[in-house]
Amino acid sequence: MNLKDFLEKVPLYKWENINGIVYIEPNYAIGAFFDQKEGLPALSLYCNKCEDRTTFNEIENKRFFDRFKSKDHFIINIIKQLEYECKGCSSIKQQYFIIVQLNYNGVELKLKIMKIGQYPELQILNETEIIKLLDKKDFEIYRKGFRCESSSFGIGAYAYYRQLVEDKIDYILDEIYKSGDSDIKKLAEKARLEKNTTKKIEIIKDKIPEKLKSGGQNTLGLLHDSLSIGLHNWTDEECLTKAEKIRTALVLLLKNIREEKEDEREIAKVFGDLANSDKK
Ligand SMILES: [Zn+2]
Repeated sequence: MNLKDFLEKVPLYKWENINGIVYIEPNYAIGAFFDQKEGLPALSLYCNKCEDRTTFNEIENKRFFDRFKSKDHFIINIIKQLEYECKGCSSIKQQYFIIVQLNYNGVELKLKIMKIGQYPELQILNETEIIKLLDKKDFEIYRKGFRCESSSFGIGAYAYYRQLVEDKIDYILDEIYKSGDSDIKKLAEKARLEKNTTKKIEIIKDKIPEKLKSGGQNTLGLLHDSLSIGLHNWTDEECLTKAEKIRTALVLLLKNIREEKEDEREIAKVFGDLANSDKK
């Protein structure tokens, strides 16, 4: 993962490995963490004042040390405060607190990084797009799920996203019904009668129409894989991975359905226009 993605997308309290940003002096004293010549990467974030996604540039980069050292092993935690500002309005700021941990056991050097604070909170990715895909009630569920995900509360995020799939599954089945052949229609009807969401998906998942796939990926199959586990005995971390998959697959699926409908409307309009021009 790179630093830009880490700052833009990763929730709090989740360790990540970041490639290619560290410089360590030969004696293993701390060198210039993040203090690369070219500065920190610019971020693409939503600005409340510009009411658009804009470029944010680094304006502050401070660090505080905390080290532990023994004869053959040392761990160093460096706390960094990063401040970003919107390039468009030069007034809206984004703050991060992160820990960079350097762990050296005499043989191997490991580096990982974690966000411990962020203000304002992590934004819903592509919020304007998501709003178009969900009604008000479902968007609230999505927002709660995303808030849990942002704080690494995996079990909570998983439960909210699962509820969202339960809310949307009949709508998805109806759309599959409309766009599928007679075999698919039969399966969609059968699935509609089933009460359990996972079983509904199980019935139809291998028959999803090509046009509702994303880059050849069967999003319904992905949803099924992530939903067909119980919450029992799963850790927050395990649920977080599943929750992220559910969110991604569901959004892709709803987006494809929406695009499909828009195409149909456009085609209907073109044919409508042609029919009208024939009449003249
Ligand atoms: Zn701005």
